[in-house]
Order: sequence, then structure tokens, then C-alpha cells
Amino acid sequence: MIDLVKKKVSEEINVKKSFIELGVSNEVARAVKEMGFEEPTFIQSLCIPKILNGIDVIGQSQTGSGKTAAFGIPAIEKVSKNSNLIEVLILCPTRELAIQGCDEIRKFARHKAWVKVIPIYGGQSIDRQIKLFEYPVSMIIGTPGRVMDLMRRNVLHLDKVKVVVLDEADEMLNMGFKEDIEKILKDVPNNRQTILFSATMSPEIIKITKEFQKNPEHVKMVHHHLTVPTIEQYYFDVPRGVKKVEILCNTLDTYNPSRTIIFCNTKKQVEELMIDMQNRGFMVLGLHGDMKQNERTRVMSSFKNGKVDILIATDVAARGIDVDSVEIVFNYDIPQDEEYYVHRIGRTGRAGKSGKAFTLVSGRNQLHSVYNIQRFTGKKIEFKMSPSRQDVYEIKQHRMLSKVRKILKEDELKEYVEVINILVEEEYSSLEIAAAILKMNCEDIVPSSFNKNSLDKNLSDSVHSFKPRFKDVVKFRVEIGKNNLVSASHILSAIATQTNFSGKDVGKITLYDKYSIFEVPRSWIDTVKRTMENCKIKGIKVRALLVE
Ligand code: ADP
Ligand code: MG
Repeated sequence: MIDLVKKKVSEEINVKKSFIELGVSNEVARAVKEMGFEEPTFIQSLCIPKILNGIDVIGQSQTGSGKTAAFGIPAIEKVSKNSNLIEVLILCPTRELAIQGCDEIRKFARHKAWVKVIPIYGGQSIDRQIKLFEYPVSMIIGTPGRVMDLMRRNVLHLDKVKVVVLDEADEMLNMGFKEDIEKILKDVPNNRQTILFSATMSPEIIKITKEFQKNPEHVKMVHHHLTVPTIEQYYFDVPRGVKKVEILCNTLDTYNPSRTIIFCNTKKQVEELMIDMQNRGFMVLGLHGDMKQNERTRVMSSFKNGKVDILIATDVAARGIDVDSVEIVFNYDIPQDEEYYVHRIGRTGRAGKSGKAFTLVSGRNQLHSVYNIQRFTGKKIEFKMSPSRQDVYEIKQHRMLSKVRKILKEDELKEYVEVINILVEEEYSSLEIAAAILKMNCEDIVPSSFNKNSLDKNLSDSVHSFKPRFKDVVKFRVEIGKNNLVSASHILSAIATQTNFSGKDVGKITLYDKYSIFEVPRSWIDTVKRTMENCKIKGIKVRALLVE
């Protein structure tokens, strides 16, 4: 790797400012502009002119730095207008990357009608894929396994290939595609140009570049470019006895991010966390390497189109996946190596947008890993106090109150006021009515109904207290209480169903550990005694006894 030294800083300073200046055609420059790209990224500025000039390039830069355009744009420019044969072959490690890369390249090529790109990947019906080749194809982007397969079946003819791109070469090797790649590279014409992108430069990668590239030029981001500066990086300490998932969920509730990716090291952890979070009321999806292709596609499209905004994933499954505006990346598990960290947090802060990365750290060893990562990236990962449940309530209340204030200021409420008036005439105060409506709509802004733990705790002060319409009340006792995880509303609804009286007329209900006391109008005594002599609350047989 040492002989492939980093490009000098001088080259960095020379970075050109527009796609046209880099030698890109008007058609492609127009398309890129329509996609909202304002100027080339660092890696694009360095790679595009070299690739256009026929130079073999080794590109090394972090995720999110715009590599697809760095090779995709010059590759498009190499496609001849009148040839109907495959001239560009792009290999990448996963189906997702093939599909995503193909989509992006099609956009770059939209004003060059003669450029036809198709994705090739396993898991899709081979017959359907073979059919695609009945029409002219100029570029393919696919996984090595399926490309090999189609070559063997004599469907793919690569004898006119001018450019081969290996995207995420290290990942392709990790996934066991080495032999396929070598076979493919031996099969394409020798005078072709070979471009290789890889996050890391292992000896295996260097071997490939030596064998298959001609005088390659190495373009690498200098070290301080390794992490995107707009990403704020923090770590949370997970104290002994506290569950990681608690901290995770509190943080999500606090920041309320539009999109989040949570990284775990294993597929088992992905699955467990998925269930854990779903039980806590979060809409989440999981993505890992063992999932079937159609499942993965479904998950990715739900995440991309915003149906679900939390994705739990393993490194390999999420590698290179390009989704805009991921606001927060969590390292639920500390990544196995420093480069994974960079890849993970590169999912946020893409293309200049700001983002946050939170790493959960439990114990000294893990803290050590964080220090190692810091040394590797040269960026500090700041300690942050993890938000407590109490913080979460406060933030939620604040958010809710701001919304209400806005509606009070801006909206026409006359007709709603009329509805509320019905209750006011029943002598409820506006404060009580507002509180009841709040309870109906935002139960989770106060501790009681949030999760089981806080529910348990809260039962001790659990009191149901409607304004009594009857002054003369009596007390009843039932042998069921906080220890049975009942709430005041369980008891209230039992009284109402058993007696057939209105629940509104029930007075105060107080829960103790083993029993509860409720108040009803004196006139109800006989009915309560009769109907609640033998009834069930939460499945437990109870009998209401008049407290003398
Ligand atoms: P990489 O392959 O390096 O991980 P991608 O090629 O997937 O990165 O690009 C990451 C994101 O940045 C994509 O959404 C892409 O459309 C966007 N992007 C790429 N180049 C530019 C640019 N010059 N200006 C703005 N956005 C860009
Ligand atoms: Mg990429």
C-alpha cells in the first residue's frame, strides 16, 4: 500500500469547480444539475478527468462521498452513440447497490438516449433477466455471481467492453467474489480501462490492482477528510443495570429524527432489537444479510419512501445503501473495526447535510474502542449524558404545548368551542376538559402510560378523580391493587359495566399494593353490593365490600 501513496495535497487545492470544467458533456452536466448537484465532490473532481483520459484509477474515499458519479459519469461518456453492445461493466457487492447504482446512472444519462443501463443481480428470475438482453444494452451494473452466470450461459457478450469498474472492491472480496471477479477480468478485452474503488487497501486488493490495472493512479482522501465534518459524533455511557435499548429509545424520543439507522454487529441482535423496539411502540424494520431478496427490497423501499423511519441493520446489509437525510446513526453495538465506524456514520450527513452519530458504550473495553476510533478518524467523539425518561417527558410536553399554541394563534376554533361547550355545561371546568382531551391524544407525554416500568411505579400514586357530582359518597374496597398491575381505569370500567351506572358518577379511585378503594354515590350501595359481589377485574375474581 505504501507504493500507492496518497495523492498530494496540491492536487486537492487544484480541484476544479464545475462538471463542465472537468470535461463532462453538456448532456450529462445538464442532468446532474437537474439532480440538484451543485458542484463535484472532492473524489469526483479528481476521478472524472482521469477516467475520461483513459487512466486506470484506484479510488479510496468514505461512503457518501459521491463515488457512483465519480465513475458513473465518465463511464457514460465512454459509451458510443451507434454501438449496441456492452461497453461498460460495473461490478458491485450487493443487489441493493446494483439497483441503486443503476438508478443513479440512468439519471446521469437521461439526456443521452443511446445509453442503456441495466442491473444484474441474483435472486431475480434468470429468464426475466435474459430477456433484457433481447434489446440493446450499453452498460451493466451487477453482482459478480450473476454476471458470471450470464456469461456462462452465453447471454452476456463482453468482447466490446471498454471500461470495467469494481465498486466497493474490498466488500466484494469479503463476500467471497474473488474468483468470479478474476474470471470476469480475464474474460474482458485486455485493452480495456479498469477502475477500482475500495474503502480499504488490503494486500488482496493490491494484488488485484497489480494484476488487472495498468499504471493505476491512486486517488485518496487525505486523512482529515475521512469523516464528514457536518456529522456531530457523541457517545453515551450505558451504566451497569441500564438496558441499551432504554437509552436508545429515550434518545429517539428526544430527537424525534426523521430517519434513523441503528447498527448492530449481528443479525441476531438486529432481530432481537427489532422485537424489543416494536414492543415499545416504535415502528422499525430490520435488514440483514440472511434475508431474502424480495424482503430486503421491501424493507429498503419502506425506509426510502418514509413509511418507516427507523432501520436496524448489520454492516454488510447496509453498506453503501444510499438514503437521503438520515438524521441519526446509532452504533448500538460498537463496530468491529474502525473503518466500519466511518462507513456507518457516513450514512448520515450525506452530501453536505448535517447529521448525528451516537455510540452506546458499556464498560471500559468499549470505551477503549471509542478512543481507538477517535485516533483513527482524527475526530473527537464527545461524551454526552443520555436523556432520561424525565427529559423525554419534558421534551414531549414542550413539543405538544408549542403545537397547541400555534393552533390557538393561527386556527379558526369556533366550531370546536361549541362542541366543548357541551361539557362545560355539564359543569366540567375547561382545565379538566383540556386535560381529558390531552390524555386521549397524547398519553405518552406523562409518565403513567409510557412503559411498563414507569406504569408500575406510577400506580402508587394512581388516583382516578372525576369531579363528584354527588356530595354524599360511600367507599368500597376491592382486593386487587398495584401488585396486580391494574389501573384506575380498569376498576372504573368494571364498576360501570357491572352496575350499568355512568362511570362519570364514580368518585375517587385509589390504588394500594393489594387492594383499591373507590367512591360511589350513596344511592348506589345496594346495586354495587349486588352486581359486584362476584365479578372479574383484569381476569381476577373480586368482590366489592362496603367500607364502614
Ligand atoms: P458513495 O458511493 O461514495 O457512498 P454515492 O455515490 O452513493 O456515495 O453518493 C452519495 C449521495 O450523494 C447520493 O445521494 C448522491 O446522489 C449524492 N451526490 C453525489 N455527488 C454529489 C454532488 N456532486 N452534489 C450533491 N450530491 C451528490
Ligand atoms: Mg457507493
